[in-house]
Amino acid sequence: MAGSERSSNLREEFALRAFISIVPGVIALAVSIVLFVYNTRYSDAGYTVGLQWVLLVLSVPAIWYGVSQLVQMRKIASFDVKCPFCQASNRFTTQPMHDVRCDRCNRDIPIVDGRTLRVFEVRCGFCSTLNWYSEKSTGLICEECDREIPISVSDDREASPAMHAYARHDDTERYNLVLLDPGPKREEIIAVLQKMLALNRNQVKEIMDDVPMTLLHGVPKKKAELMSSEIAACGGRSEVTPATSIRA
Ligand SMILES: [Zn+2]
Ligand SMILES: [Zn+2]
Repeated sequence: MAGSERSSNLREEFALRAFISIVPGVIALAVSIVLFVYNTRYSDAGYTVGLQWVLLVLSVPAIWYGVSQLVQMRKIASFDVKCPFCQASNRFTTQPMHDVRCDRCNRDIPIVDGRTLRVFEVRCGFCSTLNWYSEKSTGLICEECDREIPISVSDDREASPAMHAYARHDDTERYNLVLLDPGPKREEIIAVLQKMLALNRNQVKEIMDDVPMTLLHGVPKKKAELMSSEIAACGGRSEVTPATSIRA
């Protein structure tokens, strides 16, 4: 499948064709009218009669063609792709199924199967410039200083931990950590939860008997994910969910 064409490009083509046929057409028509008036007044003119008709015959289809191009130009379908980076509207003749370049900011708009992906902001740890990445990104080069910014895009694809410290996420969302299943290694998980929640052994046991139980409320995602991975390391199962009701 060929890539989507920009509606504006196609529109320009039609407008150009309309222009280069209508303008000469109208001039030819005007000249033929002038010749018509001239010929009716001074009937001695010979060749101008022929010219008058030739111009008339040429001008009508030219104008007709130009008008038809204008009509087609109005019929161009337009699929709006909003740039997630700069919010500019990019119009295409068909729904783009793959990445397209934003006309205004020149960034690639991430599209998978016709869906524009969400983008997230991350500040470069070296120069503090704001950069963006999408659900599709696995790495990122800073737009300003060209250094690599490590990012974690999902739970199972982590950026290298060493580089992670250099990325500063502007994530103001808050998350809950919910314990779903303490798993078979009870002693280990008790120890982890005791340390994590600063509770005594009995309090932890009560929590474990009452799963699913929210362990942490409204914490930064990184913290929730870190705790979640500690629980997973002991064979337990937990879930990090957005804390929509408790906003910081
Ligand atoms: Zn843009
Ligand atoms: Zn940078």
